[in-house]
Amino acid sequence: MRSYVSETRRKKVAPKKQRIRPVIDRLAVEHADAAIALTFENPLELLVSVMLSAQTTDVNVNRVTKTLFQKYRKPEDYLAVPVEELERDIYATGFYRQKAKALRGTMAMLLEDYDGQVPDRFEDLLRLPGVARKTANVVSAERGNAVGIVVDTHVRRISQRLAFTRQEDPVKIERDLIRLVPREDWARFPHLLIWHGRRICDARRPKCEECPLAADFCPSSRI
Ligand code: SF4
Repeated sequence: MRSYVSETRRKKVAPKKQRIRPVIDRLAVEHADAAIALTFENPLELLVSVMLSAQTTDVNVNRVTKTLFQKYRKPEDYLAVPVEELERDIYATGFYRQKAKALRGTMAMLLEDYDGQVPDRFEDLLRLPGVARKTANVVSAERGNAVGIVVDTHVRRISQRLAFTRQEDPVKIERDLIRLVPREDWARFPHLLIWHGRRICDARRPKCEECPLAADFCPSSRI
C-alpha cells in the first residue's frame, strides 16, 4: 500500500533535529492529558494489561481486567486455575490461547526467578515468556525507567509523516527516534503521538486543518 506521505507533495520544513523540541512542546499542549489508557494499580496489573493489549483496544482490555484483577491478584493465582478457566477469563481480548500460555509462563518465571515480583530491569522483562520489546518498553516507561521508545501503529505513521524516520520496521524506527528524541521525553513521546493519531492525525483522513504542527513543522501537511 502506498503511504500517505508518498501521495502528497512534501512541504519544506526545518531539519528534524530543529523541529523535535517544538513538536513535542506543541503536542504536549494539544494533548495535555496524553497518558497510557490501560487501567492498573500495581506493576503486576500493568504487565498483565500490556500483555493482553496485543491486537486489541485498551478499552477492551480494561473491560476484561476490571473483573480479572479481582480474581487474579498474585502470580500464583494465574497458575492455580486450569488453563481453560484462564482462557475463558481473558477470552474477550482475543488470541486468548496464546495470551493464557504467555501469562502462565510469565507468572511461573516471576515466582521462580523474581520472588513473585515484576522485575525492574528491561533485560529481565524481556526474559519473560510472551514479553516482547514493545511490552517491556511500555512497562519500563510506566515505571519511570524508559529505556526505549514504544513504537505502535500511531507512532510509526506519525513519525513517518513528520519525516522523523524513513523506516518501516518498528525496531529501526525506534532506533531513529532514540537518536532524535531527548531522553527525558522517551516515556511521554509515544503517548503524545498515540493521542495525536487518535484525535487528529488519522491514518486515512488526517485533520491537518486542526493540527498544531501543520503550518510549519509537518512536511506532510495538506494545508
Ligand atoms: S499536519 Fe498534522 S494532521 Fe496533517 S499529516 Fe502532519 S501531523 Fe498529521
